[in-house]
Amino acid sequence: MGNLAKLAKWLSEAGPVVVFTGAGASTESGLPDFRSAKGLWRRKDPRQLASTMALARNYEEFCRFYRWRIEALLAVQPNRVHRCLAGWEKNGLVSRVVTQNVDGFHQAAGQQVVTELHGTLRQVFCQTCGQVQPAQVFLERTACPECQGRLRPGVVLFGEALPEEAVRQAWQAAETARLLLVIGTSLEVSPANQLPHLTRRAGGKVVLVNAEPTAFDQAADLVLRGQAGEILAGVGRMLN
Ligand code: NAD
Repeated sequence: MGNLAKLAKWLSEAGPVVVFTGAGASTESGLPDFRSAKGLWRRKDPRQLASTMALARNYEEFCRFYRWRIEALLAVQPNRVHRCLAGWEKNGLVSRVVTQNVDGFHQAAGQQVVTELHGTLRQVFCQTCGQVQPAQVFLERTACPECQGRLRPGVVLFGEALPEEAVRQAWQAAETARLLLVIGTSLEVSPANQLPHLTRRAGGKVVLVNAEPTAFDQAADLVLRGQAGEILAGVGRMLN
């Protein structure tokens, strides 16, 4: 049996599966990822710009960087990876998507149950009064309309802890998943990269869909190397 057929079989047999996505799920939309050859960070250093340090000490450049990312996000759309997963949720094949992405594409494609481990780029909030605004506001002003405090994006910055409730949901989902489908992540960012280990330790299967090798490849039950959109579309055809 080929790998696509194997995944299709496992998806239909495992009961609703948990999906774990990274930046590679969104590259087909035109959003660069962080670490592969064309990744964002080949041009910019994340520790300098997407960090608590930059927010505190280099606010101007921090804002320029995030305005650029918000503009890029607002110009693109979800792709067939997001649409495919939303369709599988409707058909009872997917119970939850846990994502490291901040683009909001899973929800935009209709996914109902989504855990955002690294926050969202769709909103900004005031560091002083906490007031939340749509990300578009940040393109025009960096001062809070309410109190003139500094606005910042709703993403988790390097140097910040992950949101507690999202961690709880993600850990619980990974530990109880009979199958964790991991899509488009280098699995280099901690602690999110612990999720496949949790599933394996609890006796569940882990399937990786990624364009490049990852450190978890040897431990996975199945590795599908290639473009996520093509692979999911192929599996989708077999499920129909
Ligand atoms: P990463 O850049 O470290 O890894 C992405 C992986 O996806 C790479 O291994 C790459 O080979 C693979 N990939 C790229 N395009 C692919 C495709 N079409 N099909 C299959 N695989 C593909 O990304 P990560 O592991 O998610 O890193 C984590 C950090 O990146 C997170 O903190 C996340 O917030 C951030 N990030 C998010 C976005 C977004 O929201 N769209 C974009 C860039 C970075």
